[in-house]
Amino acid sequence: MATQKTKQLWRVRRSKIHGTGVFAAEKIRKGTRVMEYIGERISHAEADRRYENKAADDNHTFLFTVNNRAVIDGGTWGNEARWVNHSCDPNCESLIEDNRVFIEAIRTIQAGEELSYDYMIERDPSDAPDIDTIFACRCGAANCRGTMLLPPKKKKKKSSKAKSKAKAKSKAKSKAVAQSKAAAVVKTSKAKTGSKKKAATVKKAVKKATKKASKKK
Ligand SMILES: [Zn+2]
Repeated sequence: MATQKTKQLWRVRRSKIHGTGVFAAEKIRKGTRVMEYIGERISHAEADRRYENKAADDNHTFLFTVNNRAVIDGGTWGNEARWVNHSCDPNCESLIEDNRVFIEAIRTIQAGEELSYDYMIERDPSDAPDIDTIFACRCGAANCRGTMLLPPKKKKKKSSKAKSKAKAKSKAKSKAVAQSKAAAVVKTSKAKTGSKKKAATVKKAVKKATKKASKKK
């Protein structure tokens, strides 16, 4: 029986970063798929409806945008993946595969370490002025941005490094279709977007979803 495969690698307890967190119960190797982000699958319209009456400063919703049609609501039938906190120097990343969302280790994680991934929440023109306060980050990393949001977009001035990355991206496109990184969790109707190195198509969809999801008064 393949019981070892489903062995729980993590446990939930209070976090220094924020509220409840998820911690490695044992050493987790790089590349390990730690857990799946589970919850009710709903439409964007339904997600908007569910959370439109939430207080503007309440960032405790658990919506994860899978694509431009589906959202996973971890608040309903969800699992512990919704407790994985954001970090600006994360040890995991979110990954979309076959319209399912997984949290995967991007480096070796020691037992007891808190699991985290970068929410990379996109900014939107309709954001509240105190949006960075609402989504303040206390991850404590040396490179902490102070916010779960991505930095404001600069003009399209790509470094040569970014260019070569972009090249690699297009090369990896076919692969990205099957296994696309770049997910999106909506917290207070904000979309978390995962790594944007791969899956340009997904990112586009995510962006669209973000805009729509943040349309809130
Ligand atoms: Zn941070």
